[in-house]
Amino acid sequence: MTFDRTAQSAPPEEIVRLDDPKSGLRGVIVLHSTRLGPAAGGCRFRPYVSEHEASLDALRLAEGMSYKNALAGLPFGGGKAVICEPAGGYDRAALFRAFGRAVASLNGRYLTAEDVGTSVEDMLHVADSTRHVAGLPARPGAPGGDPSPWTALGVLRAMEVAVRRQLGSDLRGVTVGVQGLGHVGFALCDLLHKAGARLIVAEPRSAVAARAAVMFDAEVMTSRALLEAKLDVFAPCALGAVLDRAAVRGLQAKVVCGAANNQLATPRQGSELAERGVLYAPDYLVNAGGIINVAAEYFGWSEDDAHDRVEAIGARLGEVLDLADKAGTAAHEAADALAQSIIAGKRATALAA
Ligand code: NAD
Repeated sequence: MTFDRTAQSAPPEEIVRLDDPKSGLRGVIVLHSTRLGPAAGGCRFRPYVSEHEASLDALRLAEGMSYKNALAGLPFGGGKAVICEPAGGYDRAALFRAFGRAVASLNGRYLTAEDVGTSVEDMLHVADSTRHVAGLPARPGAPGGDPSPWTALGVLRAMEVAVRRQLGSDLRGVTVGVQGLGHVGFALCDLLHKAGARLIVAEPRSAVAARAAVMFDAEVMTSRALLEAKLDVFAPCALGAVLDRAAVRGLQAKVVCGAANNQLATPRQGSELAERGVLYAPDYLVNAGGIINVAAEYFGWSEDDAHDRVEAIGARLGEVLDLADKAGTAAHEAADALAQSIIAGKRATALAA
């Protein structure tokens, strides 16, 4: 199995295969790093073409979680679970209970939560067997539940900083293209609309796109058209690897800032964006709101504390961009280098949370 995120990538500490023929559970849990705390990262559930494809996704996502958690100043390492959705009929509750038993067997070295394709209800089934699960229904006044609104808020704060630096303005009248109107994308549109941004959206579920058109006065386009549209900001909020070579060449936006994990097809695209004068806000830095909410739920922090930490994402992006300017590197390289030095214990996070 290859592992090639960057030249400095550390291999994962442990890869746990998931194989429970009775429930149909097949997939992998990757513990990339437990140096800073439990390897925390959500559980993705998709109809993968092969287990190999699922494993590669888990490896990339788990390393991203190590970096995300380190930069967010959280006492978490990085991990990820990826489950292949069975092709035929299956008992969803039984499948997630089986996954819960696998999480329990790791004795707190891995903490799971929702990700693409999984829900609060799935996590309740996981919680039948383990307490190392977050994203459970929130008690009033306490963090927990769907992390997406927190993720959307963090993206908004990062976007404000990126737009201020790149365009010298706030978000009023700025044209933002949002790709993907799922849990995060739709919440982000709401925040952007309230901030006075002009919205162009792409979403394959046409009823959802139509709702955004009515609620946020958004223009609707195909995903392909959005990538080449006249935008100030491109906000990827669907799946990863959307910024490949062709997409970077066609992009008119001056800022890329969105929630999707692993937006760069390869690290090279981060450099190409910088060369073209596009400010790329590193995905794992700006989309940390959800994992901050998960940490608050797991460690019992207050909602105010969680909120302050999410609000600080904008300032964190500013610090990473300063580091990049100082070192003459692209933003993704500055973020990676900072995260790696925090994980290696060479540097505490200077980024106040
Ligand atoms: P989601 O599954 O709710 O939403 C994804 C949306 O993208 C769906 O509406 C889907 O129809 C749409 N989509 C799929 N392919 C598309 C395409 N080609 N063009 C346009 N839209 C397309 O997922 P989510 O929870 O909103 O997460 C979105 C992204 O943000 C994912 O990459 C996820 O890993 C990342 N993320 C989410 C959170 C969170 O709190 N939910 C936290 C951090 C990162």
